[in-house]
Amino acid sequence: MKHIPSIAKPGPQPQKLAALRQAHRDWNESPDPMTRLTRRLSTTLSLENQLAIITEEIGGTVPFDALHYRHHIGGTDFVYASGMGGPHQCEYRLNLEGEHYGTLSLRRRQKFTEQELEAIEMMLGAVICPIRNACQFLAIEHAALTDSLTGTPNKRAMDAALNQACQLSDRHGDQYSLILCDLDHFKAINDSYGHVVGDHLLKLTANELEKAVRSSDSVYRFGGEEFAILLPHTDELEARDVANRVRDYIGGIVVNCGDIDVSVTASCGVAMHLTHETSEQWLARADEALYRAKDHGRDCTRVFASIS
Ligand code: GH3
Ligand code: MG
Ligand code: MG
Repeated sequence: MKHIPSIAKPGPQPQKLAALRQAHRDWNESPDPMTRLTRRLSTTLSLENQLAIITEEIGGTVPFDALHYRHHIGGTDFVYASGMGGPHQCEYRLNLEGEHYGTLSLRRRQKFTEQELEAIEMMLGAVICPIRNACQFLAIEHAALTDSLTGTPNKRAMDAALNQACQLSDRHGDQYSLILCDLDHFKAINDSYGHVVGDHLLKLTANELEKAVRSSDSVYRFGGEEFAILLPHTDELEARDVANRVRDYIGGIVVNCGDIDVSVTASCGVAMHLTHETSEQWLARADEALYRAKDHGRDCTRVFASIS
């Protein structure tokens, strides 16, 4: 903490300072479980870490065999589970100011007594604000990494994933391939049928991409009508096959606009990560392959071959 000198003002009175010191000691060293619970929760915004703390601190007062928490945050289900369970359960919906922040349940072999339930409820009363903050933090983090039109992870998420893939590829020699997929003549679709149709096509494209790839592959919207797919444990020839499958899926999209069925094609560029290559260099090679696909007349895939 930086000390900023200021114009001399009278400091706190000695009694107040002594009381503050005492409160500071109590806050940091108190054996009281409520104080320790709130102090520990105030050290983290991670929902997972908070739930680990809650598991320990409630467990120190009321023994239980399993804690389970679930909440739908930012379009996904967040689940935290510890322990093995038991036939007796107490379950709480965590609500604050009319908003829901998840459901938490405890299980064990013996029935919970009235006193134990009262203790649990007092402790849950103290955790609800930190849990609310952690839920909101997770939702904001998710929004910062998600494209709002398609719900697909965005360029920021892609940059992080590419950097991580470069590190894993360099460290363990794993093969990673990248596909860049750009819709053909998309400006003409917007110009002819309007942005609403264009937006609809982008959403359908994102859906088709998710359907066309394996669950271990990741799809990103990294530009207007450009998507990227990161494929772990995949060489460039396998990635080329995936790119062609992706193009088939996109080619199958049909949007009916009155008398006309609108469809779209895509061009793909593929590059496999090379040892010690930065994510920017890797992306640039995939982009070069995409440029060649466009140059070749579009509606095709080109690979930036790692071995020429
Ligand atoms: P090419 O085959 O060379 O890729 O041609 P293109 O028209 O697809 O490429 P260009 O870069 O000229 O135009 C991209 C178009 O994508 C222009 C822009 O209006 C459109 N676009 C980008 N983002 C969005 C969006 O969020 N919604 C809609 N409807 N259109 C978008
Ligand atoms: Mg395009
Ligand atoms: Mg483009």
